[in-house]
Amino acid sequence: MRPTLTSKLPDVSTTIFTVMSQLATECGAINLSQGFPSFDPPEALTDRISYHLTHGANQYSPMPGVPGLRQAIARKTQRTQHRIVDPDDEITVCTGATEGLFSSIQAIVRPGDEVIVFDPAYDSYEPAVTLAGGVTRHVPLAIGANGHDFEIDWQQLRDNLTTKTRLVIVNFPHNPTGAIFANDDLDRLAELLRNTDAYLLSDEVYEHIVFDGEHHRSVLSNEELWRRSFVVSSFGKTFHATGWKIGYCIAPRELTAEFRKVHQFTTFSVSTPMQHGLADYLESNPAFCEQLSDFYQQKRDHFCTLFEGSRFRLQPSRSTFFQIVDYGDVSDALDVDLAKQWTRQIGVASIPMSVFCERPFTGTRLRFCFAKDDATLTEAVERLRTL
Ligand code: GLN
Repeated sequence: MRPTLTSKLPDVSTTIFTVMSQLATECGAINLSQGFPSFDPPEALTDRISYHLTHGANQYSPMPGVPGLRQAIARKTQRTQHRIVDPDDEITVCTGATEGLFSSIQAIVRPGDEVIVFDPAYDSYEPAVTLAGGVTRHVPLAIGANGHDFEIDWQQLRDNLTTKTRLVIVNFPHNPTGAIFANDDLDRLAELLRNTDAYLLSDEVYEHIVFDGEHHRSVLSNEELWRRSFVVSSFGKTFHATGWKIGYCIAPRELTAEFRKVHQFTTFSVSTPMQHGLADYLESNPAFCEQLSDFYQQKRDHFCTLFEGSRFRLQPSRSTFFQIVDYGDVSDALDVDLAKQWTRQIGVASIPMSVFCERPFTGTRLRFCFAKDDATLTEAVERLRTL
C-alpha cells in the first residue's frame, strides 16, 4: 500500500522563470525572460573568491554568516541608508533572497494569519505563506497620486488590513514593473501599520538599481518601520551573479533571533569562500554598488530606444533590469500564450505579466530583461519589430 499523496501546494506549478528559460533553450531563442545578466561579476571579486577557495576557507561558516561579511553589510547599510545595524545580532547571510524571504515568512506567519502582497507580486511569496499555514490577500498596485503606475493604493491597503494581518510584503524597486517607493510612502506605510499587529517584509533585491536621479528609499531608512521589519537583499542582482545565491536579511535583534531559528534548520550556513570574497570586495570597492544604476540606466535607454517608432508602447522602467512592454497594438492574444508563441516564432523569450497577478488579467504586457549585452538587445528588438 502506498501512502496517499496530498499536495501542500496543489495550485503551484513549475515557476514561469523555469518554464520560459527551458522553452528558450529548446528553441534556441534569445532569453529575455528569466532575469539574469549576460555578463560576468567583476574580476576583482572573482579573484578574491578564488583566493579564499585555495586558502583554507572551505568549511562551514558561522550560522549567521562570516563576521567580515556582516560587518561589510553593516557599513554599506550605514553609508546608503544611514541606519546603524549590529552585524552580530541584526544581519544574517542567507542562501539568496529566496531563503531570506522564506525564513522570514516561516518565522512570523502562523496558521490562519493573513499576509498582504501587492500585485503584480513576485512568485515566491504566496507559496511560502501557504506552507506556513497563512492566507495571502492580494492588493493590486494602482496609478498613484504622483501619476506613476504601480504605486500602493492606500485605501485598498487600509481596506485589506484586518486584525488577522500578520505580515505585509513590499517589493520596491519592484519586479516586474520597475516601480519605486515615492517620497512619502514610507511615512504613510508607518502610519497605517502603527496600531496593527503586522510585521513588514521588504524585498529590496534591486536596491542598487534605480534610475533617472532617483534613489532607493529603504524601509531601513524609516525609524518606525524598521522596528517591525525584515529587509531582504541579494548579491546576485548587485554583482551580476544570480547563480551564486547569496543574500542577506537585516532585522532588529528580536526578529533576527526568530529568523535565525528558521535559517539554521533551513540551510544552516552559506558557502564560506563566497562570503569571504564578497566581504573583501565590498570593503575595497564600495563604488561598485554606487555605479550600478548608471550602468543599467544605459542598458535601459539602449533597449527603449530600439523600440522607437514601433507599435510597441513603453514607459521607461524606473528601476531593476526589467522593462514592461505593451504589445496591445501588435496582438490581442493573451500574454501567457504570446510569450510562448514569440519564443517559438521569432526566438525572443519574455515573461507574461499576468502570472504575477491573482485577479483575471486583461492587460497586454510582457516583461523583458535588459541585463544583456547591447548586441543581444539589438537583435531581440529587431526580431520583435518584424511582427
Ligand atoms: N527573479 C528572477 C526574475 O524575476 C528569477 C528568479 C528565478 O528564476 N527563480 O526573473
